[in-house]
Amino acid sequence: MNRNYTIRDIVGGIAKKEFLPEEIFQHYLTRIGLKNEKLNAYLSTFDFQSSAFKSQTPLADVPCAIKDNILIEGTVVTAGSKILENYVSAYDATVIQKLRKSGVQFLGKTNMDEFAMGSSTENSAFGPTKNPHDHSRVPGGSSGGSATAVAADLCVFALGSDTGGSIRQPASFCGVVGLKPTYGRVSRHGLIAMSSSLDQIGSLTKNVYDAALVLNSIVGKDKFDSTTVDMPEYDFTENLNRPIKGLRVGVPKEYFSKGVSTEVRDRVEEGISKLKQMDCHVIDISMPHSEYAIAVYYIVMSSEISSNLARYDGIRYGYSSKNSENLFDVYSRSRAGGFGPEPKRRVMLGTYSLSSGYYDAYYLKAEKVKALIRKDFDDAFKNVDVIVGPTAPTTAFKIGDKSADPLSMYLSDIYTVPVNLAGLPGISIPCGRGDNSNMPVGFQIIGKPFDEETILRAAHQLEQVLNPKS
Ligand code: GLN
Repeated sequence: MNRNYTIRDIVGGIAKKEFLPEEIFQHYLTRIGLKNEKLNAYLSTFDFQSSAFKSQTPLADVPCAIKDNILIEGTVVTAGSKILENYVSAYDATVIQKLRKSGVQFLGKTNMDEFAMGSSTENSAFGPTKNPHDHSRVPGGSSGGSATAVAADLCVFALGSDTGGSIRQPASFCGVVGLKPTYGRVSRHGLIAMSSSLDQIGSLTKNVYDAALVLNSIVGKDKFDSTTVDMPEYDFTENLNRPIKGLRVGVPKEYFSKGVSTEVRDRVEEGISKLKQMDCHVIDISMPHSEYAIAVYYIVMSSEISSNLARYDGIRYGYSSKNSENLFDVYSRSRAGGFGPEPKRRVMLGTYSLSSGYYDAYYLKAEKVKALIRKDFDDAFKNVDVIVGPTAPTTAFKIGDKSADPLSMYLSDIYTVPVNLAGLPGISIPCGRGDNSNMPVGFQIIGKPFDEETILRAAHQLEQVLNPKS
């Protein structure tokens, strides 16, 4: 038992009695025991849950990891923050209930930037996670614990959340597959909210086939999340091999401008030439408003954060300051002591842009520019079926390199943020390593709303050419 197992390997291995469910679960717990001290991918682990009915389910006994901002009833959930220290989830998130029905085994909860704010997992109150390819580098963020857990084979697959790139960017830095579904495809009920109009749960997996399998299990309309959409039932693995000949692939010139590093551009251009060899029509396009995406994102996202984080008052959840003199003191001391620097920065930014007198100049303006960014995508999708480019401008950077400079950290999300602003599905797949850093490079494929089918199909076929063993 020492290979990098995919979902299919586990389901097949159990069916063929190569190993028992408990054995494979224990195999992963042992690996976590050996490696987690160094990598800090997991914040907690669980015990094996036996059940008689699992063999009938699609993900029967597959050991998986869950980002620590998704609720599992009766277990501690921290969202990477001291303010939720020892807080126990009162219920299961909808995705957790769905995964339970699919038969999975939960190995544990993974480390993350505090309240999912960050691009390196350095903003966790519980210490940074390391990139398994080079321990001096970050795994990306905010789902860095989940990405490291998948890349280091400390689980078979993991769930993450993506508000501005937090699944795709760490997938890119760690050399795994990261899928952010269309906004409304997967319920957010039981996901600790960061920015409710942008947050979406998705998967980190070892290959695209597994991403399709996990998506099958977690999608669907949910009465607890009114933004979910009722779509006809569909098996996302069904058409993965249907030829992509003739697929119209848009390449935005803005995604290859001065911000992207040469080593990333080289690999992504090679990926695009592979798509050409597969008889896709590669079309140059322009997304003129993408240069405003980061600015718009930081206003919209921080405004929503200032509202969503108001509930952490030192009374209802987790950490509460002990030496307060009155109610106001409890609020302010608990928030001052419980939140780290990044949530504080964003709450202040968001409160400012929503305040009367500034609302029109910042929040309202940002919403208007957001509409233009969406229109860029709508216009592009009149002529192309998918849009491709780099997932992130660089490969994984060194721990500490950007933590003192939040603005340079924010630029890590330049190619992922527009996808959230437009509510679209996006996937990152590995496409080799950078010539300078020798670290994984991610190739991003963006689709039309609810067209996960096409991005998964293109990603699967490109993966076969780029990483034939997947
Ligand atoms: N890195 C981005 C941020 O800091 C995205 C975070 C996310 O997607 N949760 O906001």
